[in-house]
Amino acid sequence: MRIDILSAVPDLLKSPFAHSIMQRANDKGLLEVVVHDIRDFSTNKHKQIDDYQFGGGAGMVMQIEPIDRAYKFLKAQRDYDEFIYMTPDGKRLEQKTCNRLSLKQNLIILCGHYKGVDERVREHFVTMEISIGDYVLSGGELPAAVLVDSIGRLLPGVLGDESSALTDSFQDGLLAPPIYTRPAEYNGWGVPEVLRSGNFKKIEQWREEQAYQRTKKRRPDLLKDWDEE
Ligand code: SAH
Repeated sequence: MRIDILSAVPDLLKSPFAHSIMQRANDKGLLEVVVHDIRDFSTNKHKQIDDYQFGGGAGMVMQIEPIDRAYKFLKAQRDYDEFIYMTPDGKRLEQKTCNRLSLKQNLIILCGHYKGVDERVREHFVTMEISIGDYVLSGGELPAAVLVDSIGRLLPGVLGDESSALTDSFQDGLLAPPIYTRPAEYNGWGVPEVLRSGNFKKIEQWREEQAYQRTKKRRPDLLKDWDEE
């Protein structure tokens, strides 16, 4: 899979993909993330990519032309499945969207800055608008990193154990059950006996029950969908 990110502050994205699981995905050739500086596509001698709002008001708006030029440059090289704009008024990111996007070949992610992008970018180029939650950040780079990480870890071969991503929260509509590791006792605090019993059927039942109870307590809204299935 290949993901091209368009950003006005590409340095912000240097580190998130250079370590740990995302680095492994890249080293194994499973996920290629290419970050482009939108300023490189500006025709302005000061490399300007933003301007004042029509109608007045505080805050600069990212201009359509450099984004159009960046998009044309990329499209000339390959077809893209989606052109995603990270924006607080987009559809809230959920696991099922990550799952769906992990099956795609080529994605573009546009990071906004300042007040955001000229509306015509959204009308004519963008095919998907994604928010990472109901709060406003200063730029789309951190949201883009969140999206890429959530997709990248789902690609077959990226996580050490294929089944690991499937047992995480939200995959089966429930939160994940509690987990423990050594030591079996710390400060007099133990580990549920069943997990050390070696009885895998019982362990499975315990985990299912715990996942259900935890979801009921913390996220009863998720159970509505789960009970209907
Ligand atoms: N004026 C906009 C906010 C702009 S914030 C509004 O009121 O809706 C600047 C940029 O940060 C946005 O263009 C977007 O790319 C990014 N951003 C901020 N918060 C975000 C969020 N919750 N999810 C995704 N992207 C976000």
